[in-house]
Amino acid sequence: MTKDYLLALDQGTTSSRALLFTPQGEIVASAQVPFPQHYPKPGWVEHDPMELLDSQLRAAADCVAKSGVCSGQIAAVGLANQRETALLWEKRTGKPVGNAIVWQCRRTAEFCTRLQQEGYAQAIRARTGLLPDAYFSGTKYRWLLDEIPGARARAERGELIGGTVDSWLLWNLTGGKTHRSDYANCSRTMLLDIHRRCWDEDLCQLLEVPRQILPEPVENSGLLGVVASNVPHLEALAGVPICGAAGDQQAALFGQGCFAPGQLKNTYGTGCFTLLNTGQTPVLSQNGLLTCIGWGLGGKTTYVLEGSVFNAGSSIQWLRDELGLIETAHQCDVLAESVPDNGGVYLVSAFTGLGAPHWDMYARGTLVGLTRGTTKAHICRATLEGIAYQTADLIAAMERDAGHPIPALRVDGGASVSDFMMQYQADLLGVPVERPDLVETTAWGAACLAGLGAGLWSGPEEIAGAGRHHTVYTPQTDRSKEYARWQRALDRAMAWEEEG
Ligand code: ADP
Repeated sequence: MTKDYLLALDQGTTSSRALLFTPQGEIVASAQVPFPQHYPKPGWVEHDPMELLDSQLRAAADCVAKSGVCSGQIAAVGLANQRETALLWEKRTGKPVGNAIVWQCRRTAEFCTRLQQEGYAQAIRARTGLLPDAYFSGTKYRWLLDEIPGARARAERGELIGGTVDSWLLWNLTGGKTHRSDYANCSRTMLLDIHRRCWDEDLCQLLEVPRQILPEPVENSGLLGVVASNVPHLEALAGVPICGAAGDQQAALFGQGCFAPGQLKNTYGTGCFTLLNTGQTPVLSQNGLLTCIGWGLGGKTTYVLEGSVFNAGSSIQWLRDELGLIETAHQCDVLAESVPDNGGVYLVSAFTGLGAPHWDMYARGTLVGLTRGTTKAHICRATLEGIAYQTADLIAAMERDAGHPIPALRVDGGASVSDFMMQYQADLLGVPVERPDLVETTAWGAACLAGLGAGLWSGPEEIAGAGRHHTVYTPQTDRSKEYARWQRALDRAMAWEEEG
């Protein structure tokens, strides 16, 4: 009877999931519990920390119950979580103080603009690898401390503590014994000095976040805590060690086996997230990409360059929900493949502006090259191609920053099932695109970090081989002519809205 199952908790933005893996990467059981989103004002997004926690604990309990595995057979628990979301709670009771401010929430945008105008962007970038933006946790803590009555005074008296979702889960899973956060999550707060791997006193002062409310930054793998005996729904898991944690995108990079410098993955979801392993040297981007910690393992830090495409799978949803051109996302693939080419049609899905490397908040979605012969199949094709072009632009910027070409691209996420788009991506990049059969790369990454921490493997190299099978798309067609036209379409999309 195997005793080395790994339980991964994948705490996402709209639901919490739990998956039980064998060390070979097979899924034994899984469960998913959604939880409510709260939108108190336009542009504001909150989660109730208790609803979030409850959904995660239920998912874990469901998953373990379904599997028929007992706690003695689980070697370790690993965590992956939505990043940047920040909250405060009472140190004595564990009771949350207000809702968590979710990564998507824009309420601190004005303060971030001020930081920029006052000339802090350079210092923030040099220390944290990030750009001042409402996305990151630091200014969210500041908001909670200032706007929740009495919070700042209570924090200064040592009554309140805070953290990102990983530390909230760890705190609760260990019955309030552990106040820690892994380096990957910490590196998305705008408060961590990513070079020294510690909270930066100057930035804590600048953002008015008392150092003592923050969790202790720790490595992504190792004994992070032990499941307490009184965790609701998880009584059966008492005593199981928690041996791994990482923010979801870093967990996915790890789960994809991108352990070596130069390896990268792209997740094609609602948006795309591309992360490139740059090894033990943090590379500060010349192209508007972010620098974060991928993971800290065995005293070594692996850094990543990160970029995102704001609208990827969401442009397929737009075809379905707003235009009514398709009924399912799969139809988009079928239609795209029904025409020999895009018929000269290009869709730049800059619905909410363009991210790296273009960084144009005033860009807007643009459909160009229409003729009387344009059909919906061409538009579907242009939509999928548009996602691949934006990814190619992002990766080209990463290659410039890293100073070397990429060897291959590993992919995952809901839209990576599109064979057409993956083939087109390979054609554009001129390197193989590899999609693992195991699509649960985020949860698997958390499981791998936990397995390493529990001593199931002596190093990441031992995991890399475990049960990996990929569908590989090799470059077949030269797309340089289409790519050049894409650049022209992009020019038309950029700076469309008037500033101010
Ligand atoms: P997220 O985690 O961001 O919610 P997922 O990884 O679940 O996203 O991916 C969902 C996205 O995948 C949707 O935007 C959807 O349009 C896209 N998608 C789903 N099926 C297909 C398909 N067959 N072809 C292309 N895109 C698809």
